[in-house]
Amino acid sequence: MRDINHFIGGESFTGASGRFSDVFNPNTGEVQARVQLATDSEMDRAIQSSQVAFESWSQVNPQRRARVMFEYKRLIEANMQELAEMLSAEHGKVVADSKGDIQRGLEVVEFACGIPHVLKGEYTWGAGPGIDVYSMRQPLGVVAGITPFNFPAMIPMWMFGMAIAVGNTFILKPSERDPSVPVRLAELMMEAGAPAGVLNVVHGDKSAVDAILTHPQVHAVSFVGSSDIANYVYQLGAANGKRVQAMGGAKNHGIVLPDADLDQVVKDLSGAAFGSAGERCMALPVVVPVGKKTADELRERMVAEMATLQVGVSTDAAAHYGPVVTAAHKARVEGWIDQGVKEGAELVVDGRGFTLQGHENGFFVGPSLFDKVTPDMESYKEEIFGPVLQIVRAASFEEALELPSKHQYGNGVAIFTQNGRAARDFAARVNVGMVGINVPIPVPVAYHSFGGWKRSAFGDTNQYGMEGLKFWTKVKTVTARWPDSDLEHVDSSFVIPTMA
Ligand code: NAD
Repeated sequence: MRDINHFIGGESFTGASGRFSDVFNPNTGEVQARVQLATDSEMDRAIQSSQVAFESWSQVNPQRRARVMFEYKRLIEANMQELAEMLSAEHGKVVADSKGDIQRGLEVVEFACGIPHVLKGEYTWGAGPGIDVYSMRQPLGVVAGITPFNFPAMIPMWMFGMAIAVGNTFILKPSERDPSVPVRLAELMMEAGAPAGVLNVVHGDKSAVDAILTHPQVHAVSFVGSSDIANYVYQLGAANGKRVQAMGGAKNHGIVLPDADLDQVVKDLSGAAFGSAGERCMALPVVVPVGKKTADELRERMVAEMATLQVGVSTDAAAHYGPVVTAAHKARVEGWIDQGVKEGAELVVDGRGFTLQGHENGFFVGPSLFDKVTPDMESYKEEIFGPVLQIVRAASFEEALELPSKHQYGNGVAIFTQNGRAARDFAARVNVGMVGINVPIPVPVAYHSFGGWKRSAFGDTNQYGMEGLKFWTKVKTVTARWPDSDLEHVDSSFVIPTMA
């Protein structure tokens, strides 16, 4: 059995906990490797290594740090195929989709190549007589990222791309389900010229997460995963004096107004609901057609579109999507389909019991479609995170607007229409963090920022872009006085100084 090691101080590190987690091949159902789960002292070792690296890395000038990022970009591109295949083999998403996963992370690295420009502080000359004020953004120290299984390349790069470029050193605790790509990403960071300890990877479960959240030398923690754990991470990290941002689950709605181009909507929905087997926090698992005519037509076309979908192994270039990540997750998704039936939703296409010939033990789930789902159903309220699309019919624009606005999650939402005024009104009023207008998966580009609302995010700073810059740095503001002459003295003042 192959063991997946930690990566500490620039080299592979074999842990001694004796605790492991199985890594499956989702195409076959077999265990293909086991990943080590760290002890507290192994986590401490990684943090000490990053602490030592911080002393010098934080003093490297921004242009030189940017050069490491430029070289890192080149190396990721040169290794794209190998990384994508490695990712697909553990996650189960098809290789083309894995390349998209890597590419979206790489775009944050590209943004980080411009760090010398965005790190420049603010300056006010002459804020008072002989007084200038300037600010600088300084790195925090050792910081950490805890990431989910569904984007094992993109989400780590969202975090460490920015955090390292501004001068921090980084501990990555990736998902134990697909840990190989994160290790490879760290090896490439060293190859790009980052000193040992700038990026360490420590595998583990709850106990490794707790070790990060309670360690006095970790100054900030970025988390992405499910909402209950995100909330836990936020609470425990904040109670331990850390800066924390914690992104959680999602249930994104696609609103379809009667004037939408339904042929295009069906294509968009198909990719956004079933791509990556629905295991995306920006998937569109709920569609809200406005009016009976729109709903009936959409349902009919969706059923026809779904009949063309090909489910296959992750290496099958013709497959639209592959297996889900584990047998437990397959059972969970199918359990939610059972629940929907029990609650009285109409199961139009049933993906349960799907098997792929030659891969009968793989974790495949067929595409499923529910109609007449209502907001009181548990299967509507909770995240399914599988290839299941739910139709919730709305009688009016206002009713459609209310559904995502009142849902416990507020990650993304999309509206499909040709009416610019309705779209504009919707975007302004909907109670959700990221909005697409005729864009089914509105993940913001790297120079904007990513973040949901309500139970989709705890903490108040988004991922990457200028928000990422703020999260990973602290501001120091200097007020300096250079009197005109040695003779000019100011009398002691016992009132708060003003520039009046
Ligand atoms: P998860 O919450 O199970 O795991 C996320 C991380 O937390 C992993 O590193 C895991 O090892 C760790 N963890 C697991 N159990 C823990 C515990 N009890 N205490 C502390 N840490 C623990 O999430 P997942 O299944 O890997 O990923 C899917 C979830 O992530 C979905 O809910 C999805 O919506 C969400 N997600 C959100 C975003 C976003 O940006 N909002 C992006 C991607 C995924």
